[in-house]
Amino acid sequence: MTLSDFTITFWGVRGSRPVPGPRTVIYGGNTPCVEVRIGKRLIILDAGTGITNLGSKLMQEPGPVIGDIFITHVHWDHIQGFPFFQPAFRIGNSFCLYGERKGNVSFAASIKRTMRHPHFPVPLEHMGAALHFTEIEPGDMLELGDGITVRTAANNHPDGGISYRIQYGNKSCCYVTDYEHGPEKAQALLELCAGTDLLIYDACFTAAEYPGYQGWGHSTWEEGLALLEATGAGRLILFHHKPERSDEEMAVLETNITGQYPMVKAAREGMVISL
Ligand SMILES: [Zn+2]
Ligand SMILES: [Zn+2]
Repeated sequence: MTLSDFTITFWGVRGSRPVPGPRTVIYGGNTPCVEVRIGKRLIILDAGTGITNLGSKLMQEPGPVIGDIFITHVHWDHIQGFPFFQPAFRIGNSFCLYGERKGNVSFAASIKRTMRHPHFPVPLEHMGAALHFTEIEPGDMLELGDGITVRTAANNHPDGGISYRIQYGNKSCCYVTDYEHGPEKAQALLELCAGTDLLIYDACFTAAEYPGYQGWGHSTWEEGLALLEATGAGRLILFHHKPERSDEEMAVLETNITGQYPMVKAAREGMVISL
């Protein structure tokens, strides 16, 4: 495994709800899912509707599919694709899922109950792959083996959530979505993102729009840029796009930002970044 094998692919970049249709062909309408490949290791961030297309691709790959799936939180837009993730139905495949317990609801139960009657005809227990659930808490650090570590921090978001930093050697990427900026929990996030190569950040709103959405649990590209500068991160990828924002509006926004800040890009479905 070499460092050049650290690749990030975006399968779902839209926030809150899927928005298919002619207005979202370029940036994409699927909800969050990001594939991280480090050598042969497969790490999946969130299981929004974007995971269904990732699943179709994985089904074409030879041999058993083994991966780690990190869920930020179980709001619908981050788990809705899981019941349709084909590799989870195939015997021989194996996935470890990581996420938070909420009160007396275990992480496993919070996923399983979305696949029960009358919501879904096939219970999770009937999926063919081996599925292991691991409960984590913000602040935990995990060793995934092969020299890969995952660090976490708490998100300021309704019902909470977790940000992730995936590190291999001196390369890393951070996944910070469904996070509202503010003094609360900011220190842990600054530490999580310090010096990272790639910061994927919740830029659902612009600073001009934000006052109308305070308390919704999302941030702005301006705050992403401030975090990039405060942490010395290399690049900023704007993520969890506002569902109402059309391709045309996204393009205007992105062009205006990148003209001034070339290290900033807006995530698009299908975008691949190698660290
Ligand atoms: Zn979300
Ligand atoms: Zn959320």
